[in-house]
Amino acid sequence: MSNLYDIKKIRSDFPQLTIKLKKNPLIYLDSAATTLKPKEVIDKLSDLYLFKTANIHRAAHELSQNLSTDYETARENVANFINAKQNEVIFTKGTTESINFVAQSYAKYFSKGSEIIISSLEHHSNILPWQNIAKEYGLVLKFIKCLPSGELDFNHFTSLISKKTKLLALTICSNALGIINPVKDYINVAKKNKIKILLDAAQSISSNITDVKKLDADFLVFSGHKIFAPTGIGVLWVKENLLETLKPYQVGGGMISSVDKNSYALACAPYRFEAGTPPIVQAISLGHALNYVKNIGLQNIHDYEKSLLTALDEGLSKIDGVKIIGPLKSRVNICSFTVEGVHSSDIGQLLSVQGICVRTGNHCAQPLVVEELGINTGLTRISLSIYNNLEEVVACVDSVKKCLEMLR
Ligand code: PLP
Repeated sequence: MSNLYDIKKIRSDFPQLTIKLKKNPLIYLDSAATTLKPKEVIDKLSDLYLFKTANIHRAAHELSQNLSTDYETARENVANFINAKQNEVIFTKGTTESINFVAQSYAKYFSKGSEIIISSLEHHSNILPWQNIAKEYGLVLKFIKCLPSGELDFNHFTSLISKKTKLLALTICSNALGIINPVKDYINVAKKNKIKILLDAAQSISSNITDVKKLDADFLVFSGHKIFAPTGIGVLWVKENLLETLKPYQVGGGMISSVDKNSYALACAPYRFEAGTPPIVQAISLGHALNYVKNIGLQNIHDYEKSLLTALDEGLSKIDGVKIIGPLKSRVNICSFTVEGVHSSDIGQLLSVQGICVRTGNHCAQPLVVEELGINTGLTRISLSIYNNLEEVVACVDSVKKCLEMLR
């Protein structure tokens, strides 16, 4: 494990790790659902609510001006974190809203019969918005199939492309299996075929370097709560050349340059896309959370989590009947498994009694789990984050072993 990584210090940053569940110390292995929050981010958040409350971009008074500056600094932090320009960063309330935004705003450029390609690995949030617009505008939705390993079939992707293909919406990391897709290969092919690309970075943002310039997609989305920030804040990154053509999907205060009784003129981007009072405190807290991550270093995080995952895979694979889905080389911090004849929810409940939090079921990825992989018992998903340690991994493997002895 990395010597640069001060796990003791990091664990002490997360007060929730000190709680007990049913008299057992908490072992939180559900960070793919949402991460715990560091005290310094929450302290800054409560300071904003307790002493700095105001609305932004509107008043001449000092509180409003200070908070407006903090909000724009948060936008700058996000831009720096993903190597974007500041005006390309739009605050939303999460990944789901960001994808719906693109689907609703961009669909008007598609004609009847246009095709959208998504993958079988997607979270429902990157399926349903496309199903909706496909029905509404008469578009065709195509799914890239998985290989038996759970990885996407690249050849199948290339075979799906036609002259009518307009958009590829692809997750960087599968939330159900933890498989990281080689998205650059997909982007290169899409570009050659003049296909626009949306990347879902919800699951990859906290442990993989995200560089929108290098990736060269058109849209990228993620949620703050998956990277140590509060809920209710997300990001939609839009490549600068598309900002003018993208239509705001909702309208209201704060996004106009002028209004009369019949019409309005839009403010410049990104403000034109942020109608109404935005999630001010949440956005500023996201900025702090990103600074927290930057101080540890994403490469350190990636290496540390991978070392824990390797130990976890090793331990679980020794348990009779456990089948891990997806090769270790393609994953960083998620291990999902099935056990023949055992339903995942039984495992989840027995682990919970021992203070261990994991997620079970279809993971908002029913087309993948049920249709593609044919799994009817659900998956048990163990997801790791910066604050987990080797002792927790060993304890979890031990508990899974005991659970299965009881259940069989
Ligand atoms: N996409 C992926 C890959 C996810 O993991 C999630 C959440 O689990 C989402 C989208 C939806 O994110 P949110 O619920 O924060 O909008």
